[in-house]
Amino acid sequence: MVLREPNINKWCYNNAAEYRTIEDDTMTTYKELGLVNSRGLFQKAVKGGYAIPAFNFNNLEQLQAIIGACVETKSPVILQVSSGARKYANSTLLKHLAKGAVDYAKELGFPIPIVLHLDHGDTFELCKSCVESGFSSVMIDGSHHPYDKNVELTKQVVEYAHKYDVTVEGELGVLAGIEDAVSSAVTHYTKPEEVEDFVKKTGVDSLAISIGTSHGANKFKPEQCTRSADGVLLPPPLRFDILEEVEKRIPGFPIVLHGASSVPVELVKIINANGGKMKDAVGIPEDQLRKAAKSAVCKVNIDSDGRIAMTAAVRKTLMENPAEFDPRKYLGPARDQLKELYKHKIVNVLGSNDKA
Ligand SMILES: [Zn+2]
Repeated sequence: MVLREPNINKWCYNNAAEYRTIEDDTMTTYKELGLVNSRGLFQKAVKGGYAIPAFNFNNLEQLQAIIGACVETKSPVILQVSSGARKYANSTLLKHLAKGAVDYAKELGFPIPIVLHLDHGDTFELCKSCVESGFSSVMIDGSHHPYDKNVELTKQVVEYAHKYDVTVEGELGVLAGIEDAVSSAVTHYTKPEEVEDFVKKTGVDSLAISIGTSHGANKFKPEQCTRSADGVLLPPPLRFDILEEVEKRIPGFPIVLHGASSVPVELVKIINANGGKMKDAVGIPEDQLRKAAKSAVCKVNIDSDGRIAMTAAVRKTLMENPAEFDPRKYLGPARDQLKELYKHKIVNVLGSNDKA
């Protein structure tokens, strides 16, 4: 039972042994859920020349696929949730799913480090709410604001989050494309001359930069691309010159790439052969992501590829079995396809296997 002390409204008497703030009483810390923040994982990744996968999730099958793939490959993982996903799944359920993920990994026989991260937080209040509900890492994306406002907002989130040892990702530069509530018609590349000042003033733990990756499954217009001999659209190459310049200015500082799906042609073909209409979908070639993962890039966000893998399996299963109406019969294959995709990313693109 919680008894309030008279005259000291901020404090409440919790039990004979301890005083806690009211705020703390309603709070779930990520440590209680068995999660870790991103700090130690990023330090090892930068030194080791690999990147940690940040896979978005909002339902059970995605979580099973992520944990299954990461345990089998012994990879650390960042479970990533956008504000849209948090609304979709319900924040209370998400918290328990994350705790369940920790226990599930143990049950599978290999307890991997798991981060629960907010993707594209846009306000201080949202970030605070995530810190209070068990997130171990948050992104505050002030990249659409003028520079000084971005610094101010990011610093405010860092000061709050660090009180609870929650790590914070900031962003400089804007990615083109659409993903949930985040959209921009054009790319604004990160200006390397701003990164040092931004990191110093805000105290962020990692920095998302814009070097030509893009959100969504249609990352580039066909007129921006060239075509390979077999007709596949090839996007403009990533701006490794900007990445190198950033690395020179903040050596060893953890860099994050958003919009890093590759939009596998074979999966898009399956979708379109089974009633889908994904036109001119194009992503980032995996060899470029592999090169990036060997640099200071230590977190790579992959969302669209997971959506595409699940959709391809669901469409194919339902087209081949039109009488099927048990969701397990089409979500099961979707989960299997997703798990294979994640294992491929971990081993062949990011290099985070055997790093847990
Ligand atoms: Zn993003």
